[in-house]
Amino acid sequence: MDDKPIDKQDILKELDELHSLDYDYADGRILGSMCTQAHPFAKEVYCKFLDTNLGDPGLFKGTKLIENKVIESIGKLLSLDKAYGNIVTGGTEANIMAIRAARNHARKYKGIVDGEIIIPDSAHFSFKKAADMLNLKIVEAKLDDDYKIDVDSVKEAISDKTVAIVAIAGTTELGLIDPIEEISEIAFENNIYFHVDAAFGGFSIPFLRDAGYGMPVFDFSLRGVCSITVDPHKMGLAPIPAGGIIFRKEEYLDVMAVDSPYLTVKTQSTIVGTRLGASSAATYAIMKYFGKDGYSKKAQELMDNTRFLAENLKGIGYDLVCEPELNIVAFNHPDMDAHELAQKLEDLDWKVSVAKCPVAIRIVLMNHIKITHLKELLEDLKELY
Ligand SMILES: *Cc1c(COP(=O)(O)O)cnc(C)c1O
Repeated sequence: MDDKPIDKQDILKELDELHSLDYDYADGRILGSMCTQAHPFAKEVYCKFLDTNLGDPGLFKGTKLIENKVIESIGKLLSLDKAYGNIVTGGTEANIMAIRAARNHARKYKGIVDGEIIIPDSAHFSFKKAADMLNLKIVEAKLDDDYKIDVDSVKEAISDKTVAIVAIAGTTELGLIDPIEEISEIAFENNIYFHVDAAFGGFSIPFLRDAGYGMPVFDFSLRGVCSITVDPHKMGLAPIPAGGIIFRKEEYLDVMAVDSPYLTVKTQSTIVGTRLGASSAATYAIMKYFGKDGYSKKAQELMDNTRFLAENLKGIGYDLVCEPELNIVAFNHPDMDAHELAQKLEDLDWKVSVAKCPVAIRIVLMNHIKITHLKELLEDLKELY
């Protein structure tokens, strides 16, 4: 730190210079991110609530009510009348909370001490962090030929140490939806905690379903589902950081509660202590502002762009890894390695990402990517073919 105060203008100049090194969503060159520009109204609300701290809800009673309202409306979206949970920093924290709840529940009610979690090969890496922090062993369920969790391999993986099964509604790499209904029944029959990671799909599957897209059921209407992760900071268009963890029962929060002596509440179940009220307020505002109709329109636009890209890629001769179910297209050049193609696109100033399972270029059709950008991209891909 400098000894003497520095003039605001000088500080801003330095920060602006550094900020200018960042890619800007608006340029349409960011093709591999699951985040996007937040809606301006959500940002406006976010700024108003910057000083609120939900870690101490007795001091911020109004903001706590806002968080409760958001959890309630996300719960309703996921077919749950009375929802419990929190707005957290993102899918990672939400998943860690879910696994912590499952572990503590199994420890308390089943006496499991060295637990295991069953996750598909396609699971987000946040579950590796969760397993590491919570001292759980990961048992990987296989994927079937369509890159979805293989139901039989889940059955085989169950042991008397299993504390949770995880399935994904909108995988990070391919945007695919696992056979949640079947896994839900398996979990229910075996009395095992079942977590659905819908960090990516949560703010689109329900709207697409209502719009007539044949979407599978993935939510609390399935009796085995104990918790669901959804990320408002992805297709929800809320500012970063905003993740949501929704629990079916309050007891899942209770098993995580620790005493919080110096605060206005006696216990705390979240991982972090001091935490943003701004994320809850902004998420609340944007959900009200769009309503189901607004989100439905957005979700359909993204699917239109997805179809446009997928069809045109096929037209040029690229191979799709799978038919897209949500707004992700993964593809390969018939005889060029994906990493090599990624590098060539990078040289043309596209920011793409490469999926690992299977190796492929992966494009996430977020709201900042417009048809004009896709046309430019397709021109470049035609050249590279
Ligand atoms: C994005 C994503 C996550 C992680 O969310 P963060 O907000 O980056 O922490 C977890 N699971 C899935 C399926 C995701 O798509």
